[in-house]
Amino acid sequence: MYSFNFILLASSIFGSCIGSFLNVCILRIPRDISIAFPPSSCTNCKEPIKWYDNIPVLSYIFLLGRCRNCKTKISIQYPLVELFTGLTAFYTVFSFSLTLKAFFVFIFACVLIVISIIDLHHQIIPDIISLPGIPFFFILALILNEIELTDLVLGILLGGGILYLIAFLYYFLAKKEGMGGGDIKLLAMIGGFIGYKGVFFTIFVSSVLGTVIGIFLILLKGRDMKYAVPFGPFLSLGALIYIYFGDLIIFHYINFIRG
Ligand SMILES: [Zn+2]
Repeated sequence: MYSFNFILLASSIFGSCIGSFLNVCILRIPRDISIAFPPSSCTNCKEPIKWYDNIPVLSYIFLLGRCRNCKTKISIQYPLVELFTGLTAFYTVFSFSLTLKAFFVFIFACVLIVISIIDLHHQIIPDIISLPGIPFFFILALILNEIELTDLVLGILLGGGILYLIAFLYYFLAKKEGMGGGDIKLLAMIGGFIGYKGVFFTIFVSSVLGTVIGIFLILLKGRDMKYAVPFGPFLSLGALIYIYFGDLIIFHYINFIRG
């Protein structure tokens, strides 16, 4: 019988290895390249990456952030995604123990990590992830059987519908596109996994986060808001906060309201 600490450590290591695979997805999916083949190579000199240079987080540190062959700088994004995915695996198992729920939540978090970083780079959320994601995560939620079927269906409809309405109103008022169609499909996917209450929570939290960080960016860069800030990362963060901390936040919120 392994101790829980050992399970947490193993989960973190497993998670960071998955993070390494997520890096491949982030790089290749928007470019329409297979995520299974060919093996990873340096984006500059094309030299295939040896297994010992592909150890999550550690290899980046040992190589001092440069390709062994051509010495080109490796993006800090690679170890950060591996580290974050490792921490996500740790916290998922810490929260839900070694259960089916933990496994499904981790898959959901991984998909959101990939979507968020692709959205940050390319301002798109690939349909190839979000569209199949709607039935896929809906089925996972049905298997978990913690949220009523009707709540989940409402989640998909509301997730798709609310953002569609906001996008339509924004277009109608501002005569330009604000929210992307990708955000709508993403929120439908989120709704199918966490239900309609989760969708309300996600919209609220992501709007607050988006506003705060948007204002911060304007102050920092004097950036004009001609270009919409990608909203996918905020929706993803909102959904994950709901899954990990939702009950706690709502509990404190209700206590706060009641005084
Ligand atoms: Zn290289």
